[in-house]
Amino acid sequence: MTRWIGTSWKMNKTVAQARDYARGLRSALEQRPELLAGVQPFIIPPHTALTAVAEELGPESARTVRLGAQNAHWEDDGAWTGEISVPQVADAGASLVEIGHSERREHFGETIETTRLKVASTLRHGLIPLLCIGEPAEVQSRGETADYLLDQARGALRDLSADQLSQVLIAYEPIWAIGAQGRPATVAELREPFEVLSREYGGRVQALLYGGSVSTDNAAQLLELAGVEGLFVGRAAWTLEGYLNLLEIA
Ligand code: PEP
Repeated sequence: MTRWIGTSWKMNKTVAQARDYARGLRSALEQRPELLAGVQPFIIPPHTALTAVAEELGPESARTVRLGAQNAHWEDDGAWTGEISVPQVADAGASLVEIGHSERREHFGETIETTRLKVASTLRHGLIPLLCIGEPAEVQSRGETADYLLDQARGALRDLSADQLSQVLIAYEPIWAIGAQGRPATVAELREPFEVLSREYGGRVQALLYGGSVSTDNAAQLLELAGVEGLFVGRAAWTLEGYLNLLEIA
């Protein structure tokens, strides 16, 4: 089984900082190819740094690290000021698109319908959709996590053929576990959500990932949990050293 281990840098890093990280990552992986055994790394810089990171990682055909965009519009082009389309992020070097992160749902009006449109556009252009789903704390405390996750996932992945679905990555990221305000989830809390997601999507999607306060303290335990096929990491992988430590654990 391939473990997908990736990071989104969110709204962080200048082009120069992104170049440094990517250059360091490429050379670390050249020197320590064992870090890639059974692991598919991916990094998701801000749009402004995509081209620079693609250059540093080398030609796409030879790249061992997948490059992703944090968002893309569902239309290919047109009067959508401030937006960037899937063909544009592909042109800048991305082969993966993050869709539906909880911050985009909360602050930018992302809905189940817009995530569906973005998944469809991403697949139409031959890129991998990384669909993020996750429940707020109130839903977890009411014991309604399973229904909430299935609504988000079924809504975004509705109408896909088996072949299309097999391209999709799903990252389960409980909102209460994300970022500096979040608290790390315990393995016990994640057992049921991963049972539910595995029952519905295990073997049908490319991989099921976990995200939310992943660190070197909990990564090994999380990767042992049934159904978890990779980790999607924020803060702990924003330094190259942090990311390499996580690749080593995987
Ligand atoms: C995230 O925002 O998707 C995330 C996983 O962040 P962190 O690892 O910093 O909690």
